[in-house]
Amino acid sequence: MCIGKSHTPESASKLAAKIAVVYAKPATTHCCVCSTEVGAADVVWRKDGFDIVRCAGCGLVFRSDLPDDSEIAQIYGGEYFTRDEQDSSGQGYLDYVADAENHRLNARRRLAALRAAPDGAELLDVGAAAGFFVEQAVAAGWKARGVDVSDEMAAYGRDELSVDVTTGLFQKLEVDSQVDAVTMWDYIEHSHDPVGDIERAFAVLKPGGLLAISTGDIDSLVGRLSGRRWHLLTPRHHNFFFSRNTLPEALRRAGFEVVELRHRAYWFSVGYLAHKTRTMLTRSRVLDRFVASIVDSRAGGLSVPVNLFDVMTVIARKPLSAGAAA
Ligand SMILES: [Zn+2]
Repeated sequence: MCIGKSHTPESASKLAAKIAVVYAKPATTHCCVCSTEVGAADVVWRKDGFDIVRCAGCGLVFRSDLPDDSEIAQIYGGEYFTRDEQDSSGQGYLDYVADAENHRLNARRRLAALRAAPDGAELLDVGAAAGFFVEQAVAAGWKARGVDVSDEMAAYGRDELSVDVTTGLFQKLEVDSQVDAVTMWDYIEHSHDPVGDIERAFAVLKPGGLLAISTGDIDSLVGRLSGRRWHLLTPRHHNFFFSRNTLPEALRRAGFEVVELRHRAYWFSVGYLAHKTRTMLTRSRVLDRFVASIVDSRAGGLSVPVNLFDVMTVIARKPLSAGAAA
C-alpha cells in the first residue's frame, strides 16, 4: 500500500514527461576517431558533473555529453581568460593578456618547430586567442592570420596587436586559397569536433603543408599517475583528451603523415603555475591564501620553463600526392 500523497492525473503526467526527458538522452555515442559505440560501461571518471569515457576501440578519452554551439559564448566569455580573485577553481587562465611575454616566448619556440618559413608562406592559427602567436609568426616572415571563438580575445588581437584574427568557428571560416601551415596550439582539447577540424585542416592545406597540434597526453606518466586529478582533465572546457596513440591515429585516418611527436617544455609564470596547481589539490582556505600570496608576489611574475612530459606537440604533413582541391 502506498502511504502519503497520492498522484493526481496531472502530476503523474508531469512525472512521465520528466522520465521521458531523462530517457530521451542517448545512452550511447560513437567515438569520433574509430566509430566504436561508447556507452555507460565506458565511463572512467565523473568530474565536475561530467561523465568522461574511454573508447574500447582506440582508447580515445572524451566527455560523453558535449556542449552545444549555443554554450560556446558563455564557456569562452571573458571569465575564461581572466579569473576573479575570489575564484579558486584553478580553471581557465589567471590573466591571459598579462602573460603576454610568456605567450610570445612560447610562440617563438613553436615557430621553430615548424622550421623555416618560405617567404610569404601562409599560416592559419586555429584557436588563436588574442593573437600572440599570429603576431610572432608575422614577425618571423609568415603571412599569418588566426580564428577564435572568443570575440573579446579576437578583438584584442585586432585592436591592440594589429593582427588578423577572425571571431568564429574554424569550420565556418572562409579560406579562399590553400595555406602552407595550420596550427592548433592547446586548441583541439576544446573542440566539439576535433576530427572535423583535422579534416578541415587537411582540406585547407596545400599538398606538403604542415599541421601542428599541441595538446595534453593523457597516457603520459603524469596523466596516468594523477588520474582524475590531472591538471588538464577539466571537462568544463576540455572535451577530448588525446594521447600519443589516439592523436596520430586521428591524423592518419584523415590522410596526414605524422612527421614528429615530442613532449616539449613551455614557459609559464610562477603565478599561473600556482593557480593551476589548485586543480590537483584538495581545496582549502589555507591553500587559497597561499596561492593568492604567490600570485601577488614578485616571484609570481617570474617565468620558468616547465616540462611534465604530459603535453605533446605533433607535426603532421599533408602528402604531396594528396589532391589540391580545398
Ligand atoms: Zn575510438
